[in-house]
Amino acid sequence: MPLQNLYEKLIATLHFHADLAAALHLLEWDQETFLPAGALESRARQIGALAGLLHEQQTAPAFLDLVDRLASDLPQLEPGAAVDVRETKWRLDRERRLDAALVRERSALHAEGRGVWVIARRDNDFAALAPLLARIVETERRVAAAIDPERDAYDVLLEEYEPGASAAMLHGLFTSLRDGLLPLVERLRGRLAARRLPATALCGAFALDAQRTFNRLVAERLGFDFQRGRLDEAVHPFTMTIGTDVRLTTRYDAHDLRYGLYATLHEAGHGLYEQGLDASAWGTPRGTACSLGVHESQSRLWENQVGRSEGFWRHLLPAARATFPDLRDASFESIVVAVNDARPSLIRTEADEITYNLHIIMRFELERALLRGDLGVNDLPHAWRECMQRTLGVVPDNDRDGVLQDVHWAGGALGYFPTYALGSLFAAQLMSAAEAALGPLDSLLAAGDFPVLLGWLRDHVHRCGQTYRSFDLVTAATGTPPSPDLLLRHLEHKIAFLESV
Ligand code: ZN
Repeated sequence: MPLQNLYEKLIATLHFHADLAAALHLLEWDQETFLPAGALESRARQIGALAGLLHEQQTAPAFLDLVDRLASDLPQLEPGAAVDVRETKWRLDRERRLDAALVRERSALHAEGRGVWVIARRDNDFAALAPLLARIVETERRVAAAIDPERDAYDVLLEEYEPGASAAMLHGLFTSLRDGLLPLVERLRGRLAARRLPATALCGAFALDAQRTFNRLVAERLGFDFQRGRLDEAVHPFTMTIGTDVRLTTRYDAHDLRYGLYATLHEAGHGLYEQGLDASAWGTPRGTACSLGVHESQSRLWENQVGRSEGFWRHLLPAARATFPDLRDASFESIVVAVNDARPSLIRTEADEITYNLHIIMRFELERALLRGDLGVNDLPHAWRECMQRTLGVVPDNDRDGVLQDVHWAGGALGYFPTYALGSLFAAQLMSAAEAALGPLDSLLAAGDFPVLLGWLRDHVHRCGQTYRSFDLVTAATGTPPSPDLLLRHLEHKIAFLESV
């Protein structure tokens, strides 16, 4: 069969897989939003059945042969087709090296881990999780060795989320990032004692229905297309793409406007990325997000770089005042302080923009040590407290606020945490490149010209899909390889602002 026909066959098959995945995503989205509790068991069965079917299709011998045949002729393919074949083959090669028994054992262990974690966290009982966590670490080592016995286990697992990245690359970036952040944390401590302006301007009484309307309006103004998406509510906000339809979720607090608004901005950033992917390449690697780090760069860009800027609030404040009576007397400055307030704290998900990445760097080091065997699971709570003391200067007095706060490790996601910090770093670099191209962004945001910024991101990030790996994508978009410099500069401006009010 001519090469072009084989490629068309590949695309048709990838579309079929993407349709099955979309159906699976709809079941999962519904489970997290509207599913009545009594239907959980049957829903788990439906998800299991569909996931099994999808896996069967993705590993069918005829499909593997097709991909291998195309990959052997890679230089003859036109560049776009070559990307689709290269990335499909890369994923498949990982999958096919894992035998079915190991895949089953691994996913059962992860499901059990998540369940046991809920109880262990509730009861502040690390010992209840430890034996299972040790088995999870051991299984992940076996998975990594099965995929590539030549490479460091951490690198192999990391690539599940950030293809092309390695622990050595991250270690270099994160070491300079931490060295730049530690003096900022010192300054935050100094500022805490001398704080003048209270950071409570967005605390008050905010009716939930008014918040729903307001958050939808904000997502719409950023450019989120509600003809191809929704905004609903979930306990842990997430974004799910169902074919060409993007579902955002958020959550609200009737007493703090920030709680819902910044979750919405974050998820809208993920959603804008998904909506900006090349529609003509839907279902193929070229029409799929590059990596988790790049995904996080988009959510963090809208949440932090845009959503906490003065320009954004200059634009938004009239609408916010018109919607919420409690904001009528709040000054512009007090609101900007309220959304940028920062202090060392215990919980990653509640951390401010300045201290957040120290929480991530610490997890990166701990999970690497766990995989290498340099750190035993039983020593983890102690190592956690020691790292918190060394980097943030605050120490949890229980494991619920320490090592048990995140589900990732219990759910088998080792190598996932770094993508959050990469996202912050990529976002700062992309914002700076966008500013060089578009002119001062703060005045652009103050004028509500969000689509101009979105257009730049569409051209330089969204439409590229998986054409490049993440570090090359950022280099191509910004002209310089990823580095912590621009993130540190952004955070230095922030702390200088906080010190000035
Ligand atoms: Zn996110």
